[in-house]
Amino acid sequence: MPKDTTVSKTTHTTEIFERRESEARSYSRGMPAMFATASGSHLHDESGNTWIDFLAGCSSLNYGHNDPDMKAALVDHITSDGITHGLDLHTNTKADFLTAMEEHILAPRGMDHRVMFTGPTGANAVEAAMKIARKVTGRTNVIAFTNGFHGVTNGALAATGNGYHRGGAGMSLHGVTRMPFDGFFDGIDSADYLDQMLSDASGGIDAPAAIMLETIQGEGGLNAARAEWVKKIEGIAKKHGALLIIDDIQAGCGRSGTFFSFEEMGVTPDIVTLAKSISGFGLPLAMVLVKPEYDVFGPAEHNGTFRGNTHAFVTARIAIEKFWADNSFQSELADKARLIEERLTELASLVPEARLKGRGLMRGVDVGSGELAGKICAEAYKNGLVIETSGSDDQVVKVLAPLTTSVETFNEGFDILIAAARKVLGSTTNIAAE
Ligand SMILES: *Cc1c(COP(=O)(O)O)cnc(C)c1O
Repeated sequence: MPKDTTVSKTTHTTEIFERRESEARSYSRGMPAMFATASGSHLHDESGNTWIDFLAGCSSLNYGHNDPDMKAALVDHITSDGITHGLDLHTNTKADFLTAMEEHILAPRGMDHRVMFTGPTGANAVEAAMKIARKVTGRTNVIAFTNGFHGVTNGALAATGNGYHRGGAGMSLHGVTRMPFDGFFDGIDSADYLDQMLSDASGGIDAPAAIMLETIQGEGGLNAARAEWVKKIEGIAKKHGALLIIDDIQAGCGRSGTFFSFEEMGVTPDIVTLAKSISGFGLPLAMVLVKPEYDVFGPAEHNGTFRGNTHAFVTARIAIEKFWADNSFQSELADKARLIEERLTELASLVPEARLKGRGLMRGVDVGSGELAGKICAEAYKNGLVIETSGSDDQVVKVLAPLTTSVETFNEGFDILIAAARKVLGSTTNIAAE
């Protein structure tokens, strides 16, 4: 008997994923809906259910899903037979993107950095950044920090702190010395500690090629470094002949409240990595910004078939022109950051000893245990909110909503989240009382 294909065309089951997709899949386990469409800050599944998106592709969708201007430009590019894949040839779309990047992002911030396109993942940009620093200095050691996350290819993974991810390497990870991030120790300024370790001839740390950090650790639990600490690290890098690499893959592109997460700290990194939201549309695109004097790679020395992604250049240019050509978007972000802080304070007040984490629009609440944070996120998901955890024990409920989320949708999402926490905490109390 022929199968009735009309049903399977419109309604999928998850069985194919269980049968065929690798066990390496992750987000889909806790959020098994069959997502089909999305726009702005909302995701929809095949059956017409809607979720508010407080995950935003881990900050790859800072301007929301399917921004109408980016979408129109991309569709127009495709229908007019614009280049889809151009290796690293000159294309009109790359010229337009670089012009927008120069005019609206780099020049106004006094940055004369060159833009190097790498393979389209963040990890590839981090690999390139570390290689550049090593080539410039002739040194191998890179200083990275506790709870840092820089990607999972072996070079970047060596700089990543998380034991679970490191364990997946299957080989020794080297070339990196781990140092305590800001706030890792109570009562010790870990920048002073680093300086002393490097300054003592018997400190036992090889002279570093680079010091690499996230100003707000995304996967590591939303630890926000103080501006003074980052500034001190910049000075320490200079003093010891190392380059300063700021990995702005997650905290950049407006997430911190400004385009770069470091721009109000008075530091100028030698190298900046960007990926995640730089395309604006959720398309893969990654790059390294490097001071001209350190732009040392020869042609194709760090190559990659997909260096630069022409479709992503189209949307990335629109993102910059639409959101960063003047200050209006940035001042909206300041208002939204205040709203997030207010609502997360409300959430934190429900959990004894809970702490607010992060900065800008990269905020969360450390609820003390991964189990509790996971339960709150799972309950929120059941009620129409996509949200994830972060941190060494997944103990932080993390809000990474699109920056374009309206005040109304933000409040709806927070209402769901806070109700979820109340429900989970209520049932936890009951279990404890039984
Ligand atoms: C996500 C992330 C990376 C890795 O990017 P991929 O595209 O997943 O390889 C590197 N650094 C930071 C800070 C990130 O958040």
